[in-house]
Amino acid sequence: MKIALLIPCYNEAAVLPLFWQECQKALSSLSDTQFDYIFINDGSKDDTLGWLKELASKNSQVKIISLSRNFGKEAALTAGLKEGENYDAVVVIDADLQDPPALIVDFIRYFKEGFDIVYGQRGNRASDTFFKRTTATLFYKIYNLLSTYPMPANAGDFRLLSRRAVQAVLALPERERFMKGIFNWIGYKTKAVPFTRTPRAAGNTAWNYWKLWNFSLQGLTSCSTGLLRLWTYMGIVIACLAGLYAIFIAYKKIMFGNPVSGYTSLMVAILFFSGVQLISLGIIGEYLGRIFMETKQRPLYLIDEKINCK
Ligand code: UDP
Ligand code: MG
Repeated sequence: MKIALLIPCYNEAAVLPLFWQECQKALSSLSDTQFDYIFINDGSKDDTLGWLKELASKNSQVKIISLSRNFGKEAALTAGLKEGENYDAVVVIDADLQDPPALIVDFIRYFKEGFDIVYGQRGNRASDTFFKRTTATLFYKIYNLLSTYPMPANAGDFRLLSRRAVQAVLALPERERFMKGIFNWIGYKTKAVPFTRTPRAAGNTAWNYWKLWNFSLQGLTSCSTGLLRLWTYMGIVIACLAGLYAIFIAYKKIMFGNPVSGYTSLMVAILFFSGVQLISLGIIGEYLGRIFMETKQRPLYLIDEKINCK
């Protein structure tokens, strides 16, 4: 059996030697399986590419796809999947050892039992800050509320995909790729394997809260139109309330005449509804922007060089 590990790398020179060592240790017990390593260098600015090239010169099972600049993890993964489409299965794994390579042994066991997708489910997020944990929980809650295809909470990208699952992912043509949502959308027989996510072994995370916020917006808008529909309901509710209020002031006028007042309620209403309108416009803009990006039909990534690849 041939299995490819897909490792997206952005400035991971500090952790790659450790990652390589751990993989060798964890996977040597599986003698009936041949492992290839597809490293995707996502425009790293440190010595990631240099180190990988040296490794590849000594090991033919190490393959490198180096992108022309930083395209982001989602694009890097797509590049890797394209290269890995002819393996029996691929395993997507982070380079920073937050996804333990030892778990791959379990993934493969379930794969042999007939599961198409086996993913690592983060048992607890103790290695994350309180803020990150709560916002992540909130994101999954909102996502599952809006989306037609609920996503299991605490599933990352760390997973094994069978060949047909890989081909299904590659067959989706969209440019805005929210991988977690896509992995979930394709369906197939899926198995969760719980594990504890440890802090990064070395190096720094490429994510900050602003990037994560944008990423979650991308997630919410790329997998469902729920956010757009929300404004229809919002409009209905507000229109009903406004109707009730209209009856109330008409009644007041008839019964008590019209002493000029109401500056406060007027201001509140104007400010509130301008806010509501701007938010809804923003959401429409969010979707429009994504339609714009899709219609440009640009390639997802550009490859600078390939080493040991097909
Ligand atoms: N990564 C990437 N391109 C990017 C950002 C990250 O290929 O633009 C890779 C990174 O090298 C790592 C994985 O994606 O292997 C996860 O990134 P990171 O550890 O920074 O994210 P976190 O674990 O904090 O979510
Ligand atoms: Mg990480």
